[in-house]
Amino acid sequence: MGPLFKILMASIFVAYIAVKWTAPSFDPESLRGARVLVTGASKGIGEQMAYHYGRFGAKIVITGRREKALQQVAEKCLSLGAQEALYIAADMASESDPDKVVDFALDKLGGLDYLVLNHIGSTPFSMWSGEVDHVSWLMKVNFFSYIQMAWRALPSLEQSKGSLVIVSSVAGKMPSPFTAPYTSTKSALNGFFGSLSHELAMKESNVSVSICTLGLIDTESAMKKVRGITKMPAYPAAEAALNIIITGATRQQELYYPWFTQIITLCKDWFPSATNYVIQNSLNYNP
Ligand code: NDP
Repeated sequence: MGPLFKILMASIFVAYIAVKWTAPSFDPESLRGARVLVTGASKGIGEQMAYHYGRFGAKIVITGRREKALQQVAEKCLSLGAQEALYIAADMASESDPDKVVDFALDKLGGLDYLVLNHIGSTPFSMWSGEVDHVSWLMKVNFFSYIQMAWRALPSLEQSKGSLVIVSSVAGKMPSPFTAPYTSTKSALNGFFGSLSHELAMKESNVSVSICTLGLIDTESAMKKVRGITKMPAYPAAEAALNIIITGATRQQELYYPWFTQIITLCKDWFPSATNYVIQNSLNYNP
């Protein structure tokens, strides 16, 4: 290991510790009675977020397409301590459902403190082979519905000094094979909400924007896709969910979970060829 490499690694470590130490501290009481809308909460990370918000005593609205699953999650949220737990079934590929969901939450909760945009449409984990219609549909679900809901909720978030939380992926910062449509939607989210965040700050808005970059998380849908293809470790959905909630509650602009995803994205910029080699060789693929 050369001295330059050691200095680089030590600098990264020191910078990481400094960032962690100066991060604002989280007060769980700040979420008691908070009015929260979580999308994609019938399973996976969204479901885990709903349970955490429930334990913190928040008032929540959850959404997804499957009514029965939403009902079960809402019941569990109440049993964990949620002050309110309501659900509305909606398809984010529809033109009108994103607005309908925000209007439902505003009406039932009397406003919003947190809008947590987390849902994703299903997409294959495979080589791109020209499915343009699928990309267009996925853009509707994973991107257009996000900006539609954010715009609808902004006036209320402005009033409540609220937070907009966007669940994104390391794929949106560092393209990898087999995920072209998904990666496009996450890159679009990073670009749009990164830009919006500047504009809100320039307007001295009350609303904070948090963009959460996640690595591989052990949800059923993710594991089903990557099992046998990647050797990357998967991290627990409940912990990812808690980190997202804390990032929103402390009004931080960014989350990287697990922590090393930030280092990986930096490596991509600093050592692109080496990073590409590692990415391509970390996947089982026989042409
Ligand atoms: P899941 O596939 O487990 O859950 C997706 C959620 O979205 C479900 O609640 C599903 O509910 C809902 N959904 C799917 N299609 C639609 C639709 N057309 N309209 C409305 N709701 C829909 O996802 P994860 O929990 O794994 O991921 C959550 C977030 O985390 C996503 O933004 C994802 O990109 C991000 N992430 C996840 C990673 C991982 O490894 N798991 C890695 C990096 C980022 P229903 O079926 O009831 O509609």
